[in-house]
Amino acid sequence: MPPPNRRRFIRRRNFFIQVSPPARSIRGRFRPVIIRTVDLLYRKRRKAVPRKALPLNGRATAGGTTLEALPPKFHSRRSMLDAESPREACGVFGVWAPGERVANLVFYGLYALQHRGQESAGIAVSDGDSLLVYKDMGLVSQVFDETTLATLQGHLAIGHTRYSTTGSSRWENAQPTFKTTAHGGGIALAHNGNLTNTGALAATLPRQRNGGASSDTDVMTELLAAERAAEVPLEDAILRVMPRLQGAYSLVIMDEHTLYGVRDPNGVRPLAIGKLPAGWVVASETAALDIVGASFVREVEPGEVVMLDETGLRSRRFAEATPNLCVFEYVYLARPDSTMGGRSVHQVRRSLGAALAREAPVEADLVIPVPDTAVSAAAGYAEASGIPFGEGLIKNRYVGRTFIQPSQTMRQLGIRIKLNPLRETIRGERLVVVDDSIVRGNTTKAIVTMLREAGAAEVHLRITSPPVRWPCFYGIDMPTRGELIASGLLSDEVAAYTGADSLAYLSLEALVEASSAATRTAGAQGLCSACFTGDYPIPIDTGSQGKSLLEPERPLPKPS
Ligand code: SF4
Repeated sequence: MPPPNRRRFIRRRNFFIQVSPPARSIRGRFRPVIIRTVDLLYRKRRKAVPRKALPLNGRATAGGTTLEALPPKFHSRRSMLDAESPREACGVFGVWAPGERVANLVFYGLYALQHRGQESAGIAVSDGDSLLVYKDMGLVSQVFDETTLATLQGHLAIGHTRYSTTGSSRWENAQPTFKTTAHGGGIALAHNGNLTNTGALAATLPRQRNGGASSDTDVMTELLAAERAAEVPLEDAILRVMPRLQGAYSLVIMDEHTLYGVRDPNGVRPLAIGKLPAGWVVASETAALDIVGASFVREVEPGEVVMLDETGLRSRRFAEATPNLCVFEYVYLARPDSTMGGRSVHQVRRSLGAALAREAPVEADLVIPVPDTAVSAAAGYAEASGIPFGEGLIKNRYVGRTFIQPSQTMRQLGIRIKLNPLRETIRGERLVVVDDSIVRGNTTKAIVTMLREAGAAEVHLRITSPPVRWPCFYGIDMPTRGELIASGLLSDEVAAYTGADSLAYLSLEALVEASSAATRTAGAQGLCSACFTGDYPIPIDTGSQGKSLLEPERPLPKPS
């Protein structure tokens, strides 16, 4: 047995696994309770090599520790290819399934949720005795391979894909977060959403608590660990801590034995429960349930905690439900093959397109979508208007996030790395171009220019959401208000800026009507539409916001 309270390192390939106490010996081998990949060789190099000369090869470059050391121009996690759209906050996935290779199930679940977060990925797994966490920067398929997954043995696991909101994009903030409790157990947590009182919560915790992490998720995991100090069961700790949190949080949490699913009282972010033949799954979207062969059971209700283990599914409430599901999930964020509030996202988007055709008709020859999210809505517009539907823009489907800086020539090509026009289809046609939203306007302008250069006779933009005029504080990474084009320009002015012949947004009433029809099925009625109206359903502590709120160089706000 290793001596207690002494950190040990086990060498695995060219990485090291950091083993924190309490380490246990299983068949003469050390069993890590928490894993942290630390490229010690790289750290030595980092001391010896000037920053700008750091090598860009190998896995270490994709890892969080290395990215931290890259020159500042590489720190921007927003590539030129996705600078325009609002970005999702995260995808969460959890499995309790004895006899299954749960790490593989989580891998495929996260793979289905990759669109919700592309900065980092991680999996925590338990065999009923100890809890392991493996996480790194990058896409799910970059972080995990067969060898890695084979080391993650157990019957219970949670996983996470991240876009950063509170807490910068670096290894320490990748999830699942992990804390040990005073009596030796572990807690792992994965979060979709964003807290609005992070500063106030963090101010109640010891300053050195976080080992370099600066996310709201780390704060809530620490609160749970602190609550468990008196050997309170995790279930009770969750019920005590959740009412202290404000904001949006759909969570999967685990200890060594039980999987928990939690949704904030407003239910801003989705969370669905699925059933496997011999187990349970919790996921951000139902599409991820489908991919692992789980059948949809129901959604976790706002203000509810569900517990999943050998006793089946149990439920407790920590707050009354005041539903305010993010309406942008229907417009843009969720996969079209997911269902929310009892209706398919695809069908809602078709309804949005049809409503837009009724509200903003135009004489045209062809309706084309901006792929991929506007495809369903464009089909709805075409059907309602009687104008033929066609593909006019082809998306390079293998362009994901990239941190490779484009050459000057490629910068001039801009959007063409991502989209390419079908010239034969477009030439001489009067086009209705359907898109889900306009944020900064730059990408829309580039698309209109590209279509005109391809020979379009007219370009009429039809947007299946109202103008985005306000930032989101509930887990969607959007630009500041000043960067939102609709916060300063009327629709005619935006049309002129983009070079379109006309531009029309869907009305808020039509958006809410189409989306509420979905949520009413599940008995919920409220929707958040704050980024269109500025009417925020959850109070915002404006001094407690921002990605860098808890970064080490910033002093924590004083407790009030
Ligand atoms: S502000 Fe907009 S993006 Fe954010 S939760 Fe509300 S509707 Fe969704």
